[in-house]
Amino acid sequence: CGVFGVTNAENASKIAYLGLFALQHRGQESAGISTTNEKIINTHRNTGLVFDVFKENDLSKLEGNNAIGHVRYSTAGGNIGANVQPITARIGGIPVSLSHNGNIVNSEEIRTFLENSGAILQATADTELILHIMARSNKTTFIEKLKHSFEELSGAFSLLVLTPTHLYAVVDACGYRPLSLGKMKNENGIPSWVLSSETCAMDLVGAEFVRDIAPGEILSIELATGLTQSNIFNLTEFQNRKLQHSKCIFEHVYFSRPDSLVWNILANDARFAMGEELSKNNPVDADMVIAVPDSGVPMAMGYAKASGIPYRIGLIRNHYVGRTFIEPTQNVRNFKVRLKLNPVRETVKGKRIIVIDDSIVRGTTSRKIIELLREAGAKEVHMRIASPPVKYPCYYGIDTPKRKELLAQVMTSLEMNEYLKSNTLEFLSENQLLNVMQSFQTSSLKKNEESLNGGWCTACFSGNYQDEIAQKKGCIEKL
Ligand code: 5GP
Ligand code: SF4
Ligand code: MG
Repeated sequence: CGVFGVTNAENASKIAYLGLFALQHRGQESAGISTTNEKIINTHRNTGLVFDVFKENDLSKLEGNNAIGHVRYSTAGGNIGANVQPITARIGGIPVSLSHNGNIVNSEEIRTFLENSGAILQATADTELILHIMARSNKTTFIEKLKHSFEELSGAFSLLVLTPTHLYAVVDACGYRPLSLGKMKNENGIPSWVLSSETCAMDLVGAEFVRDIAPGEILSIELATGLTQSNIFNLTEFQNRKLQHSKCIFEHVYFSRPDSLVWNILANDARFAMGEELSKNNPVDADMVIAVPDSGVPMAMGYAKASGIPYRIGLIRNHYVGRTFIEPTQNVRNFKVRLKLNPVRETVKGKRIIVIDDSIVRGTTSRKIIELLREAGAKEVHMRIASPPVKYPCYYGIDTPKRKELLAQVMTSLEMNEYLKSNTLEFLSENQLLNVMQSFQTSSLKKNEESLNGGWCTACFSGNYQDEIAQKKGCIEKL
């Protein structure tokens, strides 16, 4: 999912709308915006793309200079109306609106507990549970209630919480999902703050990146004055859970937009370097390097540069394939690839080709692409994947399928090569990927990262989940 927030801005709803547009790649199922005029909160939300959910009239009705928004893709709870965000409630008489990016791993336990004690839950997603925990907290201040929810929740949550007086930005103690703070120019002398899952949304609304929200941080912004207060809950406060910083490395592999600074590293640069590293470790003689667009492009350019083999455009993506065909069945998935990607016959005919993609999940895309390239006359097709084989499900907010649907879980690399009908198939190893990411971290950052893996989560490749609940789920999830 993607979250976006803005304070002290005329037309806050329109700025949030633009912000959500820039974050559309993070979720296409639903969109919503809540605003406050510092008295009440108004919300407009629905299923669909940002463009479809909001008409000019909807945005003008969202009064006030402060807004939060959300784009959703479901990792938990499915695509039903009640799961559309931001979600709103009253806590201790105060109206509250909340946007959540991430996934709560102990949601089943919390849900059972709440339902057994009489709570009536409307949604099937995990976000509503956060509000329930806050509402039940016997702490007095709002920040203490938020902190209380930190203690109860396991997993990934980057949150924006809007009340008539404050905007809170919250990141869980492991810091799985990115959340950045920016600043916009403002005439009235009061700072105008922007919060966004990715910095590409700041570029669009003319805000400047200030810093990332830290793992375990609750940043509060007073709407009337723009004054900020940062509360960082040290990891030692959660020592009984032995948590470590655990930034999602898949944000850099696939999820984030290449023009975003993700934890202060440009995703495009990280991907180019992954391609270079892939080439150094897995060379092969060929006539050209091509990318699976769009996500494989910077990686293919890096591979081409490091190998000296020319980069060519061998696959064209149709960008106008809408949501019409998206159905979660295997049949439709195959059809979708054909609809989306077309080989450039004249370029690939009779050639030995290196195809670069960011990842193999189910293997559906790769298999079809190889088939299409061979039909178009390619002589050899060498697959090079710029991340390790995805073997384990993500419980922290990326929609990877169940274990048994992950190709690398049921096949070795050699078997995958046979199944995909590629001439050769190679991946970047976990260590190589981590080395690439380490090379971007400044020495001061390295020093601060005492955690394993330099502070990166790689659980979908390694199965090393941070918390016991995810570990258990990863082990027992039926094959
Ligand atoms: P596969 O066909 O192997 O299941 O998917 C791999 C392709 O899907 C890659 O081209 C990659 O860019 C893209 N991909 C990787 N992760 C995700 C994801 O979480 N969601 C979606 N929709 N696509 C993904
Ligand atoms: Fe990211 Fe993978 Fe960790 Fe999920 S399991 S947070 S996708 S690195
Ligand atoms: Mg792709």
